[in-house]
Amino acid sequence: MKISRRGFLQVGGFSFAVAMILPRVAFAARNALRSMRTGVQPGNKTRLVIETSSKPSYSLSYPENQLVVDIANMALDSSVKPTLASGTLVSELSQVQSGDHLHVVAKLRKPIAKLEKSQIMLLEPNGDNDYRLVLDFSASAAAAQKIAESVTSAPATKTPPKKHVIIIDAGHGGKDPGCIGRNGTREKDVVLSVAKRLRAKLEDAGFKTYMTRRDDTYLKLAERAEYAEQKKGDLFISLHANANPSRSVKGFSIYTLSEKASDEEAKKLAESENAADKIGVDGFTEFERDIRAALSSLQQHAVAEMSEEYANGCARAFRANKVEAQPGPSVRHAPFAVLRSTVPGALIELGHLSNSSEEKLLKNPDHQNRLVAAIVRSIKNYNFDV
Ligand SMILES: [Zn+2]
Repeated sequence: MKISRRGFLQVGGFSFAVAMILPRVAFAARNALRSMRTGVQPGNKTRLVIETSSKPSYSLSYPENQLVVDIANMALDSSVKPTLASGTLVSELSQVQSGDHLHVVAKLRKPIAKLEKSQIMLLEPNGDNDYRLVLDFSASAAAAQKIAESVTSAPATKTPPKKHVIIIDAGHGGKDPGCIGRNGTREKDVVLSVAKRLRAKLEDAGFKTYMTRRDDTYLKLAERAEYAEQKKGDLFISLHANANPSRSVKGFSIYTLSEKASDEEAKKLAESENAADKIGVDGFTEFERDIRAALSSLQQHAVAEMSEEYANGCARAFRANKVEAQPGPSVRHAPFAVLRSTVPGALIELGHLSNSSEEKLLKNPDHQNRLVAAIVRSIKNYNFDV
């Protein structure tokens, strides 16, 4: 039985420890199926919702004309009857026990493609709802074609695997120098140099990359986020260097978007990074207005979860590559304007220009390569697909 890496992550940590300590029977009874239902979403999408008592650890598979959701540690419950909406791709929903896993089997009217991360949401309990695994999908002409080809036993046409798109954002630029080191090093120059090295290494590793800026130009924060949307980025990496009133503070830190800052330091940092836009034209751009409306809470939740997963992996890669971490949590959250889009990602503060020894390091090509190696490692380890 195939369990995705994502599935493993969710079984990992606490629940895995519990499994080893508690009797098997207690572990097996851990999760329960509450409900399963389908609905129609705008754009003629089918939505499948599986509600469970605990956070499900799951994987997806796609046998012919079926979508199977494999949920660990769950027993079949015949009292849970499916609620099927009309006009969806799902003609039947059933439960099949397989060891201590439950398979929720959706029979499909038309073939679908493998679900992307952005089509899957795991929602925390709220109000009357328990945990909900929400899957959105529509019929795929390509998947239908593939089946037709296999039926006629024509040799399968090999399509090269899709390249994942990484948006590299070198912070600041042009009239906005970013922070300036004790010896005059400008943040905008350091991060552009790292961004160019990162681009080369990622292209070598088979990723498709786009840079928000390739030279010393000024870009508004919303323009950077908008660019990531336009290029259909799978991951957005914003590169920065930090400054601290205390010159002894050094080390990297990584940030993801949240409307509420995780701590006072993160809040101040977001304020200073967001101040870059005040140098530009005032007022909201159309993109900023649109993105606020477009980002439904469901999407925000999914993007936040993916960003968090990336940021944690990135912090691990930095530590593994022996890059010094700033004291305190390595991953923090704050309302960074540049991260406000539907592309998951993180803002990386590579180190402190306010610390003279780190300022020297940040200019050093060997150190820049070490930082780049850590970021490449984190991107290679990131699970783009479920
Ligand atoms: Zn910055």
